[in-house]
Amino acid sequence: MAELCIKVDQLRVIYNQGKSNEVRSLDGVSVEIYPQEYVIIYGPSGCGKSTLLYGISGLQAPTYGEVIVDGKNLAKMTKKDKVAFHQSSIGMVFQAFYLIETLTVIDNVCLPKVFRGESLAERREAAMKLLQRFSIDEHADRFPSQLSGGQKQRVSIARALVNNPTIILADEPTGALDSESAQNVLDIFKEINDVDKKTFIMVTHNPEHLIYADRVVYMKDGKIIREDVNRDKRPAEAAKKDFVTTPENISNELRLLMRTFKNLSLQQVGVLLIPFKAKQLMTHILSELTEEQSSAAEALLKEFLFKNLDETGFKTRLDLDAEKGGAGWNKLRAISFVDRAQEIVSIASQISKNPEQALITVSDYLIGSYHLKLDDEELLRFRAFIKMRIENKMDRFGLQQRLDFSKKLGGVGLYRGTAEKVVREMELLMLLNYSAQ
Ligand code: ADP
Ligand code: MG
Repeated sequence: MAELCIKVDQLRVIYNQGKSNEVRSLDGVSVEIYPQEYVIIYGPSGCGKSTLLYGISGLQAPTYGEVIVDGKNLAKMTKKDKVAFHQSSIGMVFQAFYLIETLTVIDNVCLPKVFRGESLAERREAAMKLLQRFSIDEHADRFPSQLSGGQKQRVSIARALVNNPTIILADEPTGALDSESAQNVLDIFKEINDVDKKTFIMVTHNPEHLIYADRVVYMKDGKIIREDVNRDKRPAEAAKKDFVTTPENISNELRLLMRTFKNLSLQQVGVLLIPFKAKQLMTHILSELTEEQSSAAEALLKEFLFKNLDETGFKTRLDLDAEKGGAGWNKLRAISFVDRAQEIVSIASQISKNPEQALITVSDYLIGSYHLKLDDEELLRFRAFIKMRIENKMDRFGLQQRLDFSKKLGGVGLYRGTAEKVVREMELLMLLNYSAQ
């Protein structure tokens, strides 16, 4: 069975150690990667993905821990060995391409060969083959600045492959590309892994990529928090079977669901299924509308605010089918939406018409909407602060602070979250009331 290709053991990378600005980029990361695996390192920005990749490449030295590649401990390599390692064992691809602008495309691809004592003809031949393979040979004599992003990335992939390394590392390689070029680059990597049998490690924060990998390593705050397996290429004793879901064994039920929910991935079927369900349910409840239904409604709302449309007209149009110039909602939803919009608009309009009365109306409205339970003292303060906001003697932050502060500190003592919501609605009222004349 296959030997380990990469072993990262309790890797820690700490910047500015012991100082006040100490950063633990990697906080004890262990991972084992076998030959010909396609592994994705996935996680939010700043979680340490690049640092892990550079640790594996030997470009970043460990503060603690070990990185062993093809049986060799990177930290114990001589300088000469390391240079050879970078030239022959590892190819790297970056988000920003890192092509040399003053060299032609073909010379960029040849560059890793320059120190290997091959003839110019040999170097160019190898480079040209790769350029042909990735359909960029016609640009061989151009300069990088004359290429599109997708073409530049293909050049940099050719450069990574030119010395025929066994491992390819890619750091957010599609991060700077449009979606078509990104797809093209992902297809190339898939082929390099499948056909050329390279071990391939890619850093990404795009969940749509996860499906390509044999294995996904999830990172957070400098640690690996989870691993998922799509296809196990590891020897049986290394494989953890718990998360295995292979495309062959997915049920028809799941297949049909995946057709509806395009962003439902196999990775989510394990631990992430509940969060996925929650998200779908949440969007459904908050807005059962399609994009067209909601933009049509927004257009009608504009007419309503311009007073080109009255309440009844608004309701009718919301309910009407899209083909007939409506928003395609249903009647009940249309009624409750218009009533709510009307309520907010009419409260807002009182603010300038009758400020004295508005103070009571607005306060009561906010208190009712957010079920605020205020004693007499709190109610007095609440109204006083709303008054100050209505009279523009205080901005939203001032209002929020006073609603949030405890009574002792002179505030109303609302929960922070409630204070925020009340203030947001108050600001909406102020906006609706505002008129430029
Ligand atoms: P990712 O690639 O997941 O976005 P990185 O590996 O680049 O994250 O960085 C991980 C953390 O280490 C971040 O908080 C980053 O700010 C910090 N970091 C990276 N390089 C340095 C450095 N040279 N000096 C100090 N902090 C660094
Ligand atoms: Mg990064």
